[in-house]
Amino acid sequence: QPTITFDNVVFGYDQDRTILHGLSFHVPVGGHIAIVGPSGAGKSTIARLLFRFYDPWSGRILIDGQDISEVTQASVRAAIGIVPQDSVLFNDTVGYNIAYGRAGATDEDVLAAAQGAAILPFIEKLPQGFDTEVGERGLKLSGGEKQRVAIARTLVKNPPILVLDEATSALDSRTEQDILDTLHRVSENRTSLSIAHRLSTIADADEILVLNEGRMAEKGSHSALLERR
Ligand code: ADP
Ligand code: ADP
Repeated sequence: QPTITFDNVVFGYDQDRTILHGLSFHVPVGGHIAIVGPSGAGKSTIARLLFRFYDPWSGRILIDGQDISEVTQASVRAAIGIVPQDSVLFNDTVGYNIAYGRAGATDEDVLAAAQGAAILPFIEKLPQGFDTEVGERGLKLSGGEKQRVAIARTLVKNPPILVLDEATSALDSRTEQDILDTLHRVSENRTSLSIAHRLSTIADADEILVLNEGRMAEKGSHSALLERR
């Protein structure tokens, strides 16, 4: 079970503008940490650094005690599953969209992932099941259905770490609650980092970090943070 450590991470996209000003935090084995903060605070930047889309200017990012700048980007990405806010589906079959997350996924892998994401009953009712075309030229999925396909695509990799980047913020509140329940279940035996706008969507987190202008403004449990407000 991996852990995530940000150790005094400094980063910016352009030389003249620092986005993260020496950020440190730790996600313990199997822990669930959430990061909240206003738009532009640097939350998604944390996810991008964790994926090694960029390397920090200084400081270190460790996964399982290993500095990620010393391992291949592919192996870093293999350990992490991300559920983004707006999942983009390919104009292809549901099955292809799920299997895409893992080279060489078998039918069993895809089935198990669909089950984990609680979208199997929906898929089984489709005229061609997993072979149903979705996207622009095929079946139009609702926001919630798309997110479930995205969750299945992530689960097919069976990643020990989950990053949820505002994974429900584009959904209506009823659908949001359903997807939150599923995400809660699939996070149970994994280490997770949730990026969120609203405190209400991360009530389950062990610890919440409040980010403001690239600095840690506060941290604490959900109830402790609510009390201070
Ligand atoms: P959040 O996720 O908290 O809304 P982001 O991490 O997306 O914030 O962005 C933090 C800051 O970095 C913002 O000011 C944003 O404009 C800037 N930023 C994000 N992506 C880029 C980029 N690719 N190039 C330059 N600046 C960027
Ligand atoms: P690959 O060649 O391995 O498919 P990708 O860059 O397409 O590499 O994706 C690797 C992982 O990074 C996938 O889990 C995907 O969901 C995630 N990913 C791709 N683009 C982004 C992005 N812009 N922000 C966050 N995660 C992303």
